[in-house]
Amino acid sequence: MMVLTKKMIEIRTILQKVGQSSTLTLPSIVVIGSQSSGKSSVLEAIVGHEFLPKGSNMVTRRPIELTLVNTPGTTEEYGEFPDLGLKHITDFSSIQRTLTDLNLAVPDSECVSHEPIQLTVYSPNVPDLSLIDLPGYIQVVGQNQPLQLKQKISELCDKYIQAPNVILAISAADVDLANSTALRASRRVDPRGERTIGVITKMDLVDAVRGAAILNDKQYPLRLGYVGVVSRAPHSQGLFKMGPSNLMATITKNENSFFSSHPMEYGPEAGVSVGTTTLRKKLMHVLEQTMSSSLQTTSDAIRQELEEATYEFKVQYNDRPLSAESYLAESLDALKHSFKQLTEEFGRPQMHELLKSELDQKVLDLLAARYWNKPITDLLPPHPETDKIADLPKADTDSLYWRRQLDASSSALTKLGVGRLATTVVATAIQDNVESLLDQSSFANHPFARSAVMDAASTILNERFYSTSDQVENCIKPYKFEIDVEEREWAQENSVGGRRKLKEVMSFVDKARKGDVIVEGDGRSGAGGFSAALLSKGREAVFLRDRADIIKLRLMAVKSKQCANPKNKYHCPEVFLDAAATKLASTAVLFLNVELLSEFYYNFPRELDLRLGKHLSDADVERFAKEDPKIRRHLEVIRRKELLELVLEKMESLKQLEGLERERLASS
Ligand code: GDP
Repeated sequence: MMVLTKKMIEIRTILQKVGQSSTLTLPSIVVIGSQSSGKSSVLEAIVGHEFLPKGSNMVTRRPIELTLVNTPGTTEEYGEFPDLGLKHITDFSSIQRTLTDLNLAVPDSECVSHEPIQLTVYSPNVPDLSLIDLPGYIQVVGQNQPLQLKQKISELCDKYIQAPNVILAISAADVDLANSTALRASRRVDPRGERTIGVITKMDLVDAVRGAAILNDKQYPLRLGYVGVVSRAPHSQGLFKMGPSNLMATITKNENSFFSSHPMEYGPEAGVSVGTTTLRKKLMHVLEQTMSSSLQTTSDAIRQELEEATYEFKVQYNDRPLSAESYLAESLDALKHSFKQLTEEFGRPQMHELLKSELDQKVLDLLAARYWNKPITDLLPPHPETDKIADLPKADTDSLYWRRQLDASSSALTKLGVGRLATTVVATAIQDNVESLLDQSSFANHPFARSAVMDAASTILNERFYSTSDQVENCIKPYKFEIDVEEREWAQENSVGGRRKLKEVMSFVDKARKGDVIVEGDGRSGAGGFSAALLSKGREAVFLRDRADIIKLRLMAVKSKQCANPKNKYHCPEVFLDAAATKLASTAVLFLNVELLSEFYYNFPRELDLRLGKHLSDADVERFAKEDPKIRRHLEVIRRKELLELVLEKMESLKQLEGLERERLASS
């Protein structure tokens, strides 16, 4: 018959994984009792090991769902915390420590936690049982204990002692049964005493006549009766540490000698139940009965849940199969695919453009600092109307001053740290590109994967950064002494770059100036006075106006015939510096392409595999997939459906077994 209980407990364990719905479970035995009633001792006697947290101020603060699994034909005894992934713990004091830690982890402000601790004990000496140990009722709130503790414990117990669970109500023999908190609580939810087993502990503390009277109690009659026990081992108080199943043997021996020394009161004729062994048997029997009788209700409930899950799966998810692994693999493939596209779209021309525009800005700064800040009349082009010889510059081409100006400017340009600048610009661009790929990918909703991908990118970039920037710096070194712009390069630049840039600056300055004029014109300054702010705005406007005038003239100069000729570079610094910047950019890009971009394009997909591929543990993959609420719901529906199907299948075969068993009993 016992194989049924084992199977039902198995089913119960699977149902626990399905969810917290209270209808979707098989009954268990819940153990209640006030503090010091001997509750822990009874449980330990049943298991045969000391494993529960002890200590005067130690209050159990979470329910312990204890599953005992009988393993006939083995000798090993061990425990497991399935939720914590702690397996095969053969040292029961380590189980005790874990339970203590879990208890202590419940913050005082919460008092007790309703979240159960799952503990499974495997042993050839335990029966197949499922027990829930609840915090002991407390009479007086102790020092350093929160005031609501008493109330909260009682609420927690109330939740668990509901039907169809069996209540194991522990009371000590030396306390009047009328004062037993456990029995009072059970009475409230089970007034006719139909699903409560009374356990009277500390039978050794009362004389036998009185003990027998308690066990025959008529004031609180219980259909399942009372069992008297002496569950404290006589020497457990420190003389020697109990060996593993010594505890069970010692208690049995002790109980046997105690109860048999009072045959009148506790003997077979007395009609009372005594001893932990008797209790153990009773528990097995009652649990099996209770579970069997709720089998039908539970399987109906499961069937209904399954129908709901199936319907949800169909309607919401179109029956689309999904697993955390497949989801990750698909997401990763999609990201790699879009990355492939990026590698085709972002190459040398794009790097060149980025770098050039960065250098353009530097060139403009240099021009503004060295050329556009004073009326450089002798660099101006000849005025087409007033000047007679329209094709010649006014200034001396060999003027040392303008030579120095240009040499200083070009040296400032080549020495500004192009290596570092270029590498930074490109690395940042790559990183931005990866980020926008991510934003459009399914990883967008996964903080964990997102940061793994960004880390992958920055790891590669960081690794390459210094060597790339050194390489680039090296290759432009010759330009630091002399930068030659050939005719071809000059012509090209003069026609596009330089002029376009200047025009842009021009229109910007113009806009800024007009904006300022408007500010100046607004009447907020009051009574004709000029505030400091207004004056400074005014000065800025004048400055910008002058600047605009200079630039306007420079624009004409750049467009003039002289500036079409590289020989006149000293008079056309805008064109020269622009051509120089282009040259720097092109050279830098050659190296950036080899040292940084190609390397990145090669390594990034590999780095992704490394971080998000096979190396992730199942738990990580699960965690990843569930980060996306939509995926999480999808996965949960599938899992729920699978578990429910599994449970139903098991239940069907259980019913068949039960039928066979009944036939066997009937024929014997
Ligand atoms: P809990 O607080 O209800 O878990 O109670 P414990 O199991 O920790 O027991 C409280 C105290 O009663 C401990 O000092 C135990 O040694 C003692 N105790 C438990 N069972 C018995 C028993 O059957 N006989 C005697 N004499 N003492 C017991």
